[in-house]
Amino acid sequence: MTIDSSGMRSSRIPADAPKRAMCSFEFIYFARPDSVMQGRSLYEARRQMGRELAREAPVDADVVITLPDSGTPAAIGFAEETGVHFEEGMIKSRYITRTFIQPSQRLRESGIRLKFNPMRHVLEGQRVALVDDSIVRGTTSKRIVDELRRAGAAEVHMRIASPPIMWPCFMGIDIASRNELIAANHSEEEVGRLVGADSLRYLSIAGLRRSMGDPDGRGFCFACFTGDYPVRVPQQLEMDKMAMERVDVPAEPSRALPQLT
Ligand code: SF4
Repeated sequence: MTIDSSGMRSSRIPADAPKRAMCSFEFIYFARPDSVMQGRSLYEARRQMGRELAREAPVDADVVITLPDSGTPAAIGFAEETGVHFEEGMIKSRYITRTFIQPSQRLRESGIRLKFNPMRHVLEGQRVALVDDSIVRGTTSKRIVDELRRAGAAEVHMRIASPPIMWPCFMGIDIASRNELIAANHSEEEVGRLVGADSLRYLSIAGLRRSMGDPDGRGFCFACFTGDYPVRVPQQLEMDKMAMERVDVPAEPSRALPQLT
C-alpha cells in the first residue's frame, strides 16, 4: 500500500519476488485455524507448536486447558504430547471480541472478566497447565491466572506456544510499544511471577519454525521475537511510531481514541 500526495494505491508483491517474509503471527494467532498458508494447515501448525512446547517445557499437571479459541489447537497438541488430558477450563463468551485491541487498560481488563468464565468443577484442586498462543502485555494472563485460582486451581503453570514478543512491528500489525511488552522488560521467570503463575515457559524460535514446516525460517518474518526486521526500518518511522505511542488514551470510552500500541 502506498499513500502519497497523489492518493492511495495498492499493488501485489510479484510471485517471483527475490525475498519474502510472511508474518509468522498469522500462523500463531491472526489467521483462522481452518486457513491453509504456504501449503500448511494452520490448525496442524498450531497443534505442532503445542507438541514442540510440551517437549521443550513439560510440566506435572492434572489437566491441560486453554484460552479459547486461539490457544485451542496448541493446547490439544500439548495434551497429546504430555498425555495429560485436555479439558475446557474456561468458557468464552460469544459476544465479547478481542480484548487486547480495546482502547484503554480499564476496558481491556473488564472485557477479559466478561469474556472468560472459569469452570470450577474442572479446575478445583487441580494442577493446571494453561496453554496460550502468546503474551503481549501480560494483562490478560494475570487476570486469567487470578480467575483460575479463584475457581480453586491448586497450581497454574503457563505454557506459551510462541517465543517472547520483545519488539514492535513496523509492518502494519498493531501489537504494542516496547515499553508495554512484558517480555521486552522481564525474563521468563519474572513474567511468570508477574502474572502470578507457578511457572511459565515459552516456545523457542527453533520450535516455532519446525512447527511451521520451515525449520530454517526462510520466507517468514519473526522480527517481533528477534528484532531482526526483514526490511530496514527507517529511523524516522521508528521515531514517529514511538512518539505516537506516547499519546495518552483518555479513560472515558466515549471519548477514547484508538490506542496506538
Ligand atoms: S514483526 Fe511480528 S507481527 Fe510484524 S510482520 Fe513480523 S512477525 Fe508479523
